Amino acid sequence: MRKPEALPAELLALPAELLALPAGPRGRFAPSPTGNLHFGSLVAALGSWLHARSGQGRWIVRMEDIDSTRSVPGAGENILATLAAFGLESDEPVAWQSQRLDLYEAAFARLQALGAVYPCHCSRSDLAACNGIHPHACLRSADSSAPAWRVRVADREISFTDRICARFNQRLDREVGDFVVRRADGLFTYQLVVVVDDAAQGISEVVRGADLLDSTPRQIHLQELLGLPTPGYLHLPLVLDPSGRKLSKQEQARPVDAGDPLPALHAALAFLGQRAPASKRVDALLREAVHAFDIDAIPARPLAHAAMRKD
Ligand SMILES: [Zn+2]
Repeated sequence: MRKPEALPAELLALPAELLALPAGPRGRFAPSPTGNLHFGSLVAALGSWLHARSGQGRWIVRMEDIDSTRSVPGAGENILATLAAFGLESDEPVAWQSQRLDLYEAAFARLQALGAVYPCHCSRSDLAACNGIHPHACLRSADSSAPAWRVRVADREISFTDRICARFNQRLDREVGDFVVRRADGLFTYQLVVVVDDAAQGISEVVRGADLLDSTPRQIHLQELLGLPTPGYLHLPLVLDPSGRKLSKQEQARPVDAGDPLPALHAALAFLGQRAPASKRVDALLREAVHAFDIDAIPARPLAHAAMRKD
């Protein structure tokens, strides 16, 4: 991992004292405020919290509210209150992406200065001709409409070792294509903002759901372009509903009960392969779970079923 001083100054939103903090993992949980916290999100929150805490590290919540068309008013505050009921509170002020647009602008300007991005007017149907994989040259010529901006990917394999899912390799040019970092409506995409946020917040360990495993090479590509460090990655098994689909807020997955957190905490620990704690209080239970945390017990498969319980 590159040293912090290699970070471009305009991306360094880190308070100076952060660089002087004792070495230890910095983990994060980054929900989108599109609904209530459901069991799948609780697993991701708890997994990242346990991982950070078991290494005497810090844990930070970031609200991924950059897409205001998807954000539900009040959902972010509701998620934070639910996390607090589960004993999971951010060690630093919660970062709201909607208030960090200058940071993403700076990263985008840097990509432009590097000549790494280009404007694109291709439509989805244009791209259907090449299986949705945008080549290095556009299929449609420029017109007067606002373009999307794509980053040129490398014509080589990008590899990383996930702490659960082992080695993961991807040829971005063959499997993904040049990808959008800024949409035609001006919005920065997930891939760019997550890379900027993780670097600016000094995140050393990204613990998240396995649905993002194959986004990681795109993020490593952007980190390399922007001169940012690559954190460690740990992708947790996904929680599927009984029909085998990922739980998502959009599908109205049942929210966890903030009024009675113990059953869901036990279920989330069991899902992560962790020993059942004996404590009957949230704070004591979490302390016990940190003490007993066993990363090797987390199921290695990228997808896993969980019994959907109704207590
Ligand atoms: Zn194009």
